[in-house]
Amino acid sequence: MARIVVKFGGTSVGDTDRIKNVARKIKAEVERGNQVAAVVSAMSGATNQLVKWVGDVAPLHDAREYDVVVATGEQVTIGLLALALQQLGVQSRSWLSWQLPIRTDAAYGKARIVEIKTAEMACSMAAGEVPIVPGFQGLSPEGRVTTLGRGGSDTSAVALAAALKADRCDIYTDVDGVYTSDPRIVDKARKIDQVTYEEMLEMASQGSKVLQTRSVELAMNHHVRVQVLSSFDEALGSDLPGTMVVDEEEIMAQGLEKAVVSGIAFSKDEAKITVTRVADRPGVAAAIFGPLADANINVDMIVQNVSLDGSSTDITFTVPRADLARAVEQLDRAKADLKFTEIKADTNVAKVSVIGVGMRSHAGVALKMFQTLAGKGINIEVISTSEIKISVLVAAEYTELAVRALHTAYELDATT
Ligand code: ADP
Ligand code: ASP
Ligand code: MG
Repeated sequence: MARIVVKFGGTSVGDTDRIKNVARKIKAEVERGNQVAAVVSAMSGATNQLVKWVGDVAPLHDAREYDVVVATGEQVTIGLLALALQQLGVQSRSWLSWQLPIRTDAAYGKARIVEIKTAEMACSMAAGEVPIVPGFQGLSPEGRVTTLGRGGSDTSAVALAAALKADRCDIYTDVDGVYTSDPRIVDKARKIDQVTYEEMLEMASQGSKVLQTRSVELAMNHHVRVQVLSSFDEALGSDLPGTMVVDEEEIMAQGLEKAVVSGIAFSKDEAKITVTRVADRPGVAAAIFGPLADANINVDMIVQNVSLDGSSTDITFTVPRADLARAVEQLDRAKADLKFTEIKADTNVAKVSVIGVGMRSHAGVALKMFQTLAGKGINIEVISTSEIKISVLVAAEYTELAVRALHTAYELDATT
């Protein structure tokens, strides 16, 4: 008997028929003799609607009240799924996050899970009941509801799997696994059978929203076996039809050769800021990035160009698009100190990344990326690298062209 946490995303619970389909899948896992706990998202579109309502009433909202509103989507689906299971003769009950509780920090709107109490739930599972838990929501230290950031149900599921010491965490979604690139953009994308935690982490953080970044981090740190699979296919999670996220050693142990590049990711959620003609003296970078860090704004890519006479420099960097206005405001405040000429903000950009653990031991991976983009006439605005990833910033209109060209260049295209 295995203990499995299953998670169903928004499309998979998008209407009542789909919720009944989910209930049938859970029932089948139970009939195989497995202990199952389920985490569900809100119905697809529901969270967007809730976020919009908040924005309509108060654009600069109180994050505590934002969470009160947007956490409600998942309350609907847990109740409906518990009812659907009961209709099939499976004992089931829903648990709101405060009832367990799922404790988080107080970062409303992007809270991190600190602890999940599972004692009561484990008892009910042992007695044959299927607990249904809402994704995306938690309880703050001051006893108020929190949410985990968009896509956070993946993180709820992995955290629950870690807390329950589950054998596996099956993330059911609307694609049948992790692909070499977003299959909605790249027709020739190929399903990957096994991907390492490290590669999955880079893919998620560079824009592949199939898993929330934090969920991969948690899985890696707690050695949770995560599988991504489709809720629309017949196969059950226990048949292992999807993509497994595993340790690199596990792949090596099978004697499999890792591809140098295993995926291409992209993100249109970035904005580019250039601060022009800043005095080129020690401490200037700290003076620019200090106020941004104080405002909790993540800076990602950075490039600096010193002027020909060496007296001043332009600094270009990227921030999340949602934080652009705040970032510009912070920099404006520091103008007296920084003495720059101008702040230029550009939202017409996309970040395209090639990812692969094989890069560590192969030369020429970056060169191929630059040559491929040059061949398509695509200008590179900023570059950043890590051990297993190269990212470039390009004009947004070239995103699809760049992703598809790179997919072909690194020989990732499906053959049929
Ligand atoms: P859910 O609602 O189930 O959480 P998401 O929309 O969050 O589903 O994630 C699934 C989507 O992720 C897919 O529909 C697909 O378009 C997108 N996606 C992006 N990159 C990839 C990738 N490399 N492999 C698979 N899916 C990807
Ligand atoms: N319902 C939330 C969202 O749409 C959480 C999730 O689906 O993972 O972001
Ligand atoms: Mg998701």
